[in-house]
Formats: sequence, structure tokens, C-alpha cells
Amino acid sequence: MPARDIISYPDPRLKTVCEAVVDPCVAQLVAADLLATLDICPPRTVGIAAPQIGDLVRVVVVDSSRNPKFEGGHGLLSLVNPRIVSHEGSMVFREGCLSLPDYTANIRRFERVTVHALDLDLREVEVDASGFEAVVLQHELDHLDGVLFLDRVADIKTDLFPRKRK
Ligand SMILES: [Zn+2]
Repeated sequence: MPARDIISYPDPRLKTVCEAVVDPCVAQLVAADLLATLDICPPRTVGIAAPQIGDLVRVVVVDSSRNPKFEGGHGLLSLVNPRIVSHEGSMVFREGCLSLPDYTANIRRFERVTVHALDLDLREVEVDASGFEAVVLQHELDHLDGVLFLDRVADIKTDLFPRKRK
């Protein structure tokens, strides 16, 4: 389960609608590589989706507890074929992305979401998330449909920012 290279915009793989996973071995292998990759990402990185390592399948790994913005929730989640089944409210959040390392942007997201997914043994799970964790889930699920935060920026002139260099 090696860490893998992160694919950057504008690689066309990031604009692909990914395929559902039907084999638990695929889910487990991809999730292991995603977690190994997340573990060597910059500190505070909270999520990664399979297309970002070039695997065009519907698997994400998130762990919003790696960021000081974490305000409670599930911590580490590996989700297969996830989909949002209900949502409430809306909020604007400043987001970044491993595949767009030079920018952050203010993006409008749902404040609370319920996600149906499968775990790594392909058993059904339901995840209720709010606030920061809900934003992280929405960002990573977007990747599975080939959607990047750039696609959701309301106004590039006022809502897109060069990332501050440390
Ligand atoms: Zn991203």
C-alpha cells in the first residue's frame, strides 16, 4: 500500500465521472493507497479521492480531525460509492485542494449532509456530518463526479485566492 503521486489540474482524469466499486478487494487496495498518500500530504490535509491518485473509482478517504477547524465528527472515514441523500442549510467555506495547490476559494456548501455509502467490506453505512466535516465530504464526493472546487466558484474575481506560501 504505497503512497502515490497526486494528479494535478488540468489532468483530464480529474474531470472524469468515476465508476462504482463492486469488488471489496478493489475498495481495500484503493483506500489503503489513499490513506498512505494522505499520511504524507502537508499537515492539516483532510481528504483525498481516488481520481486524485489516478484510480477512476468511487472511493474517498477523509479525516477532518487532522485540521484545527475540526469541531467534532467521525474522524477517519473510508467511503465507497458514497452519495449525499439529504442536506440542510448552506454555508460558505474557504477550501483548498491537493490537485490545485496554488489556490484557495470561497465555496458555498450544504451545512449538514447525510451520506449513504459502503464500507471497505461493501456493507452499507450512513454518515451524518455537519460544518467542517460536511464540507470536506462534499469536496471529496465532488471529485468522484469530475467536479473541482474551481467549478463551484461563484465569482473568480472575488472568491478565488492565490495560496499563501509559508
Ligand atoms: Zn480536492
